[in-house]
Amino acid sequence: MPALRIEKKSGEWKVAPQLRDYEALRESFSWAKAAAEELQGLPGGRGLNIGFEAVDRHALGARSEQCAIRFLQREGGHEDFSYGRLYEATNRFANLLASLGLKKGDRVFGLLGRVPELYVTALGALKAGAVFCPLFSAFGPEPIQTRLSLGEGKLLVTTAALYQKKVAAIRASLPYLKHVILVDAAARPDTIGWREAMSNASPDFVVPPTDPEDLALLHFTSGTTGKPKGALHVHQAILAHHVTGRLALDFRAGDVFWCTADPGWVTGTSYGILSPLSNGVTMVVDAQDFDAQRWYQILEEQRVSVWYTAPTAVRMMMKGGSELSRGRDLSRLRFIASVGEPLNPEAVLWGVEALGLPIHDNWWQTETGGIMIANYAAMDIKPGSMGRPLPGIEAGVVRRREDGSVEVLPDGEPGELALRPGWPSMFRGYLNEEARYRKCFAGNWYLTGDLAKRDTEGYYWFVGRADDMIKSAGHLIGPFEVESALLEHAAVAEAGVIGKPDSTVGEVVKAFVSLKPGYEAGETLKRELLGFARTRLGAAVAPKEIDILPALPRTRSGKILRRLLKARELGLPEGDTSTLEGGA
Ligand code: AMP
Repeated sequence: MPALRIEKKSGEWKVAPQLRDYEALRESFSWAKAAAEELQGLPGGRGLNIGFEAVDRHALGARSEQCAIRFLQREGGHEDFSYGRLYEATNRFANLLASLGLKKGDRVFGLLGRVPELYVTALGALKAGAVFCPLFSAFGPEPIQTRLSLGEGKLLVTTAALYQKKVAAIRASLPYLKHVILVDAAARPDTIGWREAMSNASPDFVVPPTDPEDLALLHFTSGTTGKPKGALHVHQAILAHHVTGRLALDFRAGDVFWCTADPGWVTGTSYGILSPLSNGVTMVVDAQDFDAQRWYQILEEQRVSVWYTAPTAVRMMMKGGSELSRGRDLSRLRFIASVGEPLNPEAVLWGVEALGLPIHDNWWQTETGGIMIANYAAMDIKPGSMGRPLPGIEAGVVRRREDGSVEVLPDGEPGELALRPGWPSMFRGYLNEEARYRKCFAGNWYLTGDLAKRDTEGYYWFVGRADDMIKSAGHLIGPFEVESALLEHAAVAEAGVIGKPDSTVGEVVKAFVSLKPGYEAGETLKRELLGFARTRLGAAVAPKEIDILPALPRTRSGKILRRLLKARELGLPEGDTSTLEGGA
């Protein structure tokens, strides 16, 4: 492990970090105490509601006039939502849900870019007791259809263009979907117009009693086999969103926070909506896609003080060269963090050179709902490490034995990263898949599916995935979903999909197929297959490369050996091939 260490000396802090004495806070921390001290709860002891904690308590208190979210528009210009304005808009949306007949627990899906209506939908749905589920706007019709149908989405909020391109053709196959609201169109026979419906809804709303264990969020995540899994989160999760935002992202009053993750994924919801609002900070949201020049400009002009981004974005900034940052006044920037994929040491150090601050890696996943392991502001950074478990989180590196028991491994030995269940944002199940959920737990540990090791100072180091999942540009992609789409093409007999290492986006999706008799391999067919997958899956998920092979390697039981496809692609040893069909 590298000896490199970025030391943090207390005398150098511009402002003292929230989490200073790690050992002492770990010792004294309890979730119950944090709940009592940091959250308000619904008035009259009527429970805990995420929407109330994120919006209402500030709007009804001292922050009503404070900017909650500044939306930067694509073409320039911005629109500000104060906590008071957000309160009124989310009240209207909650009333609109009731007028459409939606009840507690019903699923509301958002298929939108980073526009105000998405944030109003998410927070209004939570206040009304509905379950909010985000869909990434770059998904193609197939991932959208699968998730809306598995999640039994009753209402979808989207734009006219996204509806036309991705939903209209599949609507007949979605029997649960009762209503579609278009944010930028007037009412039509089969869709509702946002503006009119919202102006007809009352601006007054009182959040109904909410049990902390009531379902609040549904986040789909991919699996290596089978359909995507719907991770279920409850209102209690806001406690973890709030506390981890304060401890790992160092939120404090007066901060301007920018989370670059899209709210179509879990980071963009937990830390792109809920955690910053619960902490009462001002958020910046940019509707535009990545552009290095624009990003420096946002950091400077919006006086961003805390920035949460992803390794792919950092590497893309690095490619742009640090000249782009010269002459920029980034003196407001106090803390930078990153999540989603391994953050290479060069990227941590580039932060120091180009932005004047190291980038602090942290680790979590859809199932954990919030940050679990972090390089918090006060700690020495060992570039390449994910940091240490936050107060309230117990982590370990374990090996699952054949008999289902779990052995905790000594420091330095790689194994599966595991967490002790019990933190508030832990997922409460996979939608309708009890057995798949139970398989994630053994010996009172939650097993994360990631391989890691811990050093003697308690720092965790990412080693890899324990499964075949692909991380491309920070998006978790299940090979099964991609293979299924390719198999729908008339020419494809078999499909196997892997992640191929890439120096910018981490991994690119690469597919291997074999053909049915009568089809000829060649560049034309390859292009056709890539286009076919892209139309169905969307650019974020579809393979970027494809190879046609005479046959794909399978186990004797018929499973395609992605591991072997990957080893061959990378010219690595093939490992144990004794289960290979046709002999070793
Ligand atoms: P998702 O559920 O889509 O947020 O993806 C979670 C997965 O992303 C984790 O299980 C890891 O495989 C990966 N991941 C998240 N954060 C990190 C990190 N800091 N370093 C390495 N991998 C990460």
